[in-house]
This record gives sequence, C-alpha cells and structure tokens, in this order.
Amino acid sequence: MHMRVLKSPLAVLSNRVAIAGLSWREGKNSSAARGYGYDWQRLRAGHLAKHPYCAYCLRDLDMCGMTPAEVIIACATRDIPEPIGSIGDHIVPHEGDESLRLDPNNVQTLCKRHHDGEKQRRERAAR
Ligand SMILES: [Zn+2]
Repeated sequence: MHMRVLKSPLAVLSNRVAIAGLSWREGKNSSAARGYGYDWQRLRAGHLAKHPYCAYCLRDLDMCGMTPAEVIIACATRDIPEPIGSIGDHIVPHEGDESLRLDPNNVQTLCKRHHDGEKQRRERAAR
C-alpha cells in the first residue's frame, strides 16, 4: 500500500523536470529558471528518479547494487519500509567547483538522517 504512495511523487517529479526543461529553453520566466542552481536541481531530480533510495540505508540493509524494483521486493519480503531518500548529495564536496557540482557521477541519494549525519561529520572535519 505505501509503495504506491512513495512512488508517485517521483513520477510527478520527472514530469515536472521535463516541463521545467522546456520552459527554461523557451524563456526565463519560472522561478526555477531564475534561481541559483537550476542546473543542479535538474541533475538532482534526474538522479532521484533513477535512484530513489538512500545509498547509506541500502548499505545498512545489505541491498547495495539492487535495482529499485529489487529493493521494493526485498523490503516487502522483510516487511520493512523502503529507504526513500530525497536529498541529492555530492559525494565529493564541490566547494564552488562547477564541474564537480554538476557531475552526474558525483551525486548520491541520501535520506535526511544520513545526509545530516554526513554533513555534520564533514563540517567538524573541516574545522
Ligand atoms: Zn539513509
């Protein structure tokens, strides 16, 4: 039951990305087109649509390398919630480097819990 609820926002998101992409080409009228990081939001949305689950949760659940379809079945089998993540995290902090910031291979999906933990660890390390 919850699977359908969790999957549909991703489909909506994908459609929005396609629409936003068109409007961006046609003119800079939407707030997203004007906003800082629009390219990043497109990259993030595309990544989340393909990789909806938190990379660290998958690791903790021993589900690394599973396709989204396999994760759905594995979670149903184990009767646990799917580890949906909504945050596109930079694997290597970009620190203003555009090539790192917009590198599709430098993105991983994280849930808020794992992102906040990772972020705090990074900030402590940077001090
Ligand atoms: Zn997680």
